[in-house]
Amino acid sequence: MLKNLIKISVLLIFVIITPIILTGCKSKPKTDLEEIIKRDKIIFGVKNDTKPFGFEENGNLIGIDIDIARYITKSILGDGNKAEFKIVDSANRLVTLSSGDVDMVIASMSITPQRKTVINFSIPYHLAGQTILVRKESDIKSLTDLKNKKIVVVFGSTAEKNLRMVAPGATIVGTKSYTTAFEMLKSNQVEGMASDDTILNAFAQDGRYRILNKKYTIEPYAIGFRKSERSETLQERVDYILDEMKRNGQLKQIEQKWIK
Ligand code: GLU
Repeated sequence: MLKNLIKISVLLIFVIITPIILTGCKSKPKTDLEEIIKRDKIIFGVKNDTKPFGFEENGNLIGIDIDIARYITKSILGDGNKAEFKIVDSANRLVTLSSGDVDMVIASMSITPQRKTVINFSIPYHLAGQTILVRKESDIKSLTDLKNKKIVVVFGSTAEKNLRMVAPGATIVGTKSYTTAFEMLKSNQVEGMASDDTILNAFAQDGRYRILNKKYTIEPYAIGFRKSERSETLQERVDYILDEMKRNGQLKQIEQKWIK
């Protein structure tokens, strides 16, 4: 009798506990992609000061990076509105990604060998090149004219390092955002602003500024992922989506919408 009772109890425990353990294991996401699907939301690190990629207008985040993020979200979760955005700046993009606060970073970020040692990159989705924005009447015509001239760069951007290489005679001044960098140029605190042509072009729209003709670097923009096994399937999926956007003309359409 006692033996039977023990047998039944063991059987019952087995029948009840096993599914709980199995469900428990199954529901714990093993990859970033599984986690995203489970939470039904993708968290992107984006800019809010970098026109035309990520910027704010009337309290809304808009731009090329935001549109691409929404397209990716629609592809993965069926609804572009399931994208959530956290603001990053040029200097904290990699740390924010590594800390796990965001699933990926889409923030006008160039692929560089140094960054590649810390994070992984998707296939590129935009090609820019660095140049200098100056006031229209400035006597700066080429890189050689930058000697002893104050040029502003955004901390953590590729311009910070590149400018030092191509114009060692320039006096480089750093600031935190593209908004403050342009303010410094506008208020004559600096004589030029170094960054990617696409970004500088957006600032040059009002006709009082011009950009130097020559681009001195190649800046392939890509989406950043954590350098971990957990991120691999997410990156593969995003690469596939970006490739699809290139083939079906969506990427071109988004660029044409924002690049004037
Ligand atoms: N593409 C450059 C970079 O990744 C400049 C743009 C930016 O600062 O976001 O640093």
